[in-house]
Amino acid sequence: YRHGESSEVVVPTPNGDIVFGEGHPLVVVAGPCSVENEEMIVETARRVKAAGAQFLRGGAYKPRTSPYAFQGHGESALGLLAKAREATGLGIITELMDAADLELVGEVADMIQIGARNMHNFSLLKKVGAQDKPVLLKRGMSATIEEWLMAAEYILAAGNPNVIFCERGIRTFDNQYARNTLDLSVIPVLRSLTHLPIMIDPSHGTGRSEYVPSMAMAAIAAGTDSLMIEVHPNPKKALSDGPQSLTPERFDRLMQELSVIGKAT
Ligand code: PEP
Ligand code: MN
Repeated sequence: YRHGESSEVVVPTPNGDIVFGEGHPLVVVAGPCSVENEEMIVETARRVKAAGAQFLRGGAYKPRTSPYAFQGHGESALGLLAKAREATGLGIITELMDAADLELVGEVADMIQIGARNMHNFSLLKKVGAQDKPVLLKRGMSATIEEWLMAAEYILAAGNPNVIFCERGIRTFDNQYARNTLDLSVIPVLRSLTHLPIMIDPSHGTGRSEYVPSMAMAAIAAGTDSLMIEVHPNPKKALSDGPQSLTPERFDRLMQELSVIGKAT
């Protein structure tokens, strides 16, 4: 993974090729934690596209702490993501939890997300390494940088060069006021260690919607290539991660604020 020049990850979407990497415009991924129904996902897709996002995120398979919590609508949610993609041309990013779902997820996803809880799932990493879709590799909640780099190495070694690192906050001693500690120091650290693009997820990183905009701006100041922001049409009613989700209005305002400080298109 040590490399002299930074590399690009080019992701074809219906709206054209989106390029992640140093020196390219900021790429923004936005959408709800979970795909809940057709109306909310298509509506959210339209709103985040209008605000300037390039990708829609939304979980069909959700890695919930409790087995009694909403687990995602699974295969039917993948169909709804396909509808949102068709309606807006946005690229789709959705999480793969089980290698058995790879084919179905690969049919709709323009980029496959490996969640924090699966960063150490080496057999899953090998499977996504052996297919063609780009992979968004979230940092495990207690993963060291070295473990994270090596997880990416599993994907690269299996033949897939298109990996993006996503920092989503690490677990620390104090989660009273924020869900995790968003480790923005990974931006310069990863830059010095790897050529691959970087994404920052201040939504999971803080767990509170009111802290998301300032951390998004801080991530840009530190040189991130891309951002992932959870957006829900009605956060209070969200089936997962409502407290950290921006409304479409707040997201739109954030995108305007980001364009003022720089890289956003
Ligand atoms: C998510 O993106 O909704 C998610 C579950 O993220 P993480 O794996 O970072 O917790
Ligand atoms: Mn979430």
